[in-house]
Amino acid sequence: MRRLTLVFLLVLLMVTAGCRPKTTRYQAEFLGLFDTVTTIIGYAESKEEFTALARQVQEQLAKYHRLFDIYHNYEGVNNLKTINDHAGVAPVKVDREIIALLLFAKAQYYATGGAVNIALGPVLKIWHDYRTQGILDPHAAEVPPRHLLVEAARYTTLEGLIIDEAAATVYLPDARMRLDVGAVAKGFAVERVARQLEAEGVSSLLLSVGGNIRAIGGKPDGKGVAPWKIGIKNPDPESPVPQLCNVLIRGEAVVSSGVYERYYTVDGTRYHHIIDPHTLMPADYFTSVTVISRDSGLADALSTALFILPLETGLELVEGLDGVEALWVTDSGEVISSAGFSAYLEEQSW
Ligand code: ADP
Ligand code: MG
Repeated sequence: MRRLTLVFLLVLLMVTAGCRPKTTRYQAEFLGLFDTVTTIIGYAESKEEFTALARQVQEQLAKYHRLFDIYHNYEGVNNLKTINDHAGVAPVKVDREIIALLLFAKAQYYATGGAVNIALGPVLKIWHDYRTQGILDPHAAEVPPRHLLVEAARYTTLEGLIIDEAAATVYLPDARMRLDVGAVAKGFAVERVARQLEAEGVSSLLLSVGGNIRAIGGKPDGKGVAPWKIGIKNPDPESPVPQLCNVLIRGEAVVSSGVYERYYTVDGTRYHHIIDPHTLMPADYFTSVTVISRDSGLADALSTALFILPLETGLELVEGLDGVEALWVTDSGEVISSAGFSAYLEEQSW
């Protein structure tokens, strides 16, 4: 009897394997979310099937985009801008996903010794305004005056942020406080969407929001499943090699922070967008940092934090975390990685 069951099971397995429908690789790209390009790659039996899934992903990401937007209002939505606009005025009732993001960001603030601080808004706004102006009119580009940055830094204490979880309200008690979730929101949103898709049974997809990459499973490859191959960008614009290396992932996130993303130039010097809360200036140890982790929210927060922290502090932080690996490119072009990073490297891609 037992033998019979086994034979039957084997036959059934063979039939299912033999009947597996052929899938084709599809890719969708769209703009307008998180101020960057979103790319979705997947394998489906038909274009229609893939398009329907891509639309669903787009809609879900758009919901997070509206909630986490600090620049625009949306009718009927209390978002991060609403919280900022009500600083010093009143608590704002918000969607539970905003509460989740803020609690996550607060935890990351403590975990990174304050390197990632979403209450750094007043300082980041000054850099944002000077950068925007400097890009519009490069000849008149200026570095923000020190006294402006120092004055703004007085209103950046994250401890001041009041989150009432029971009431689902958020309050910035000083009118000069501002939240900026640029360092964490994309990764957090991508993770939430990926988990939702996984819960719905999606077993293979690759999401990228401006290079914030999160894989669901691997990719179909003939009879089995192969890892996704992700190229890590070379931060040196002068190098003839556009990629540092390739990493192979199944279900992990890969997130990079780099000087090449957003910057402007004053008198030949580049000023990028990741600001060290201690110096109030762009962090200058590295030209890029890449983090691999199963959680894209964590990878995003850490890539920003590791970009700011000295190498020894960052290495210690990463080695103390389970399932997190990182790759640093120093200002002088040296490439350093955490102990387990090489396990993700495509052979001979180094
Ligand atoms: P990107 O979003 O461009 O891929 P990051 O994830 O590193 O890169 O986030 C950079 C953004 O985070 C900046 O544009 C700014 O809005 C914000 N930011 C910069 N420095 C800090 C900091 N020390 N703490 C928190 N947020 C920061
Ligand atoms: Mg980040």
